[in-house]
Amino acid sequence: MKNYDVVIVGASTAGSYFARRMAEKGFSVLLLEKDARDKLSPSYDIFHMGKEEMELHGLPKVKEGDGIYAFEFEDSAICSVYGNHPKPSKLKVVGMHKHDYCVLMNDWAVEAGAEIVYEASFKKLTYGENGKINGLVYEKDGNEETVSCRLVADCSGIPAVVRRSLPDDYGIEKFALTPKDIFYVTLRYIDFEEKRSSRYLRSDFWLFFKSWLAPSEGSDALIGIGACGGFETVEKVYKLFEKTVKLPAHKVTRIENGMTPYHRAPYSFVSDGFIAMGDAACLTKPNCGEGCTASLVLEDIAVDVASAVMADGKYPTREALWSINKRYNDTQGKEFASLMALLGSIIRHSAKANEFLFRKDVIFSCKLLGSMGNGIELSFSDYAKTLIYVVVGLVTGNIKPAELKAVINAIVTSGKLTAHYEKYPNTPDGYEAWAKEAELLWAQTGKVAEWDTVDNF
Ligand SMILES: Cc1cc2nc3c(=O)[nH]c(=O)nc-3n(C[C@H](O)[C@H](O)[C@H](O)COP(=O)(O)OP(=O)(O)OC[C@H]3O[C@@H](n4cnc5c(N)ncnc54)[C@H](O)[C@@H]3O)c2cc1C
Repeated sequence: MKNYDVVIVGASTAGSYFARRMAEKGFSVLLLEKDARDKLSPSYDIFHMGKEEMELHGLPKVKEGDGIYAFEFEDSAICSVYGNHPKPSKLKVVGMHKHDYCVLMNDWAVEAGAEIVYEASFKKLTYGENGKINGLVYEKDGNEETVSCRLVADCSGIPAVVRRSLPDDYGIEKFALTPKDIFYVTLRYIDFEEKRSSRYLRSDFWLFFKSWLAPSEGSDALIGIGACGGFETVEKVYKLFEKTVKLPAHKVTRIENGMTPYHRAPYSFVSDGFIAMGDAACLTKPNCGEGCTASLVLEDIAVDVASAVMADGKYPTREALWSINKRYNDTQGKEFASLMALLGSIIRHSAKANEFLFRKDVIFSCKLLGSMGNGIELSFSDYAKTLIYVVVGLVTGNIKPAELKAVINAIVTSGKLTAHYEKYPNTPDGYEAWAKEAELLWAQTGKVAEWDTVDNF
């Protein structure tokens, strides 16, 4: 039986990054991928990552002509329901071809010493006499292969095949995502009917419809639209979007469908000889569903902690890995929790209220939306202005009392969740009580899927 330090299930963006970083630290790493190399990441083509984030995490560079790079742009804006009152932002974004990027990431992991086996499906975990994970079984060409290891990383995406196979008392939540917990995304690749003198290189986002017009390659642009609940909901909202927002005349050349999690992350990512990352741990940005860079924050912490814990052949116990949970929840974890709670309630408003708030530049303001939630400091005059216009909105009938209630609920519960995540326990002691309290707070937040955009237009 072959032995590795780390076995990673799933060789897409999350798995490849962890493989590379652990191999760089001198560990033996095996990556298992159920698909063939030429079939990696089949659901959609064009995706984006922030250039700054790519540099921050030291991702391999892509450049024009390499078959991976598609374009770069920096102008984007978030618009009101009718496409008015844009809240502009400038952020350098790199567009790439997803399949080719995954292949690049696989090769980057192998370059550092990781091994990859394609068309190898995870079957089950194996446990030592002490009940702790000590390896796994996978299937390749109809045969079952067993490997031993000290750490198994679940990077299998939405199915979370390893996390969900753990024993009930292993210290990790085993929830499966229901359609309400998934953001269903449809990409329509379009060509404009009127030829443009220059390439389309900006991105506009209609918050009300969770819809965007963005650059593409191989077509002039793409229209993305996402909704929780299912693809029927996406289509229903898209029909309303098409009728409401006047985009330049275009024809659709191709349609792609994909899914990304829209669920809070598990309260713990680690247990004895185990860690969950990427979509398997619901690590996507609550404001846009992006997961390729969101997961890297946890992964960097995991590499730091696991490589120290596993030095000298030591076994990574739940206790030893626990600081991964703590460090993550002290930073991105609490920010994502707070933003997800905020969005779940704040979306409960009509088109009329949306247009009014965008016009008055409160709540959906340049300051809040332009910075995508990063490093904002609201002043007394920001709060005063918000209060004045909310009252004006109520008096003039632009905002309904129920919508105001939803905004207040959003702010209060998101604040409570931030405070609770700041108290994340330093050790597994206290976890049960912390998780119970977190569960009560999450129950007070709304789910995006529970709001019908079309009915509430
Ligand atoms: C239409 C669309 C557009 C998106 N655009 C962006 C974007 O622009 N930017 C961004 O950052 N994010 C974007 N996302 C989100 C992003 O795709 C995901 O968050 C990201 O791919 C998650 O990576 P992952 O490695 O965790 O999981 P996945 O990419 O889902 O990979 C999981 C891997 O595990 C393998 N696997 C599954 N089961 C097994 C098994 N039993 N045995 C072995 N292997 C297994 C799968 O084959 C797969 O290769 C988009 C999502 C969609 C749907």
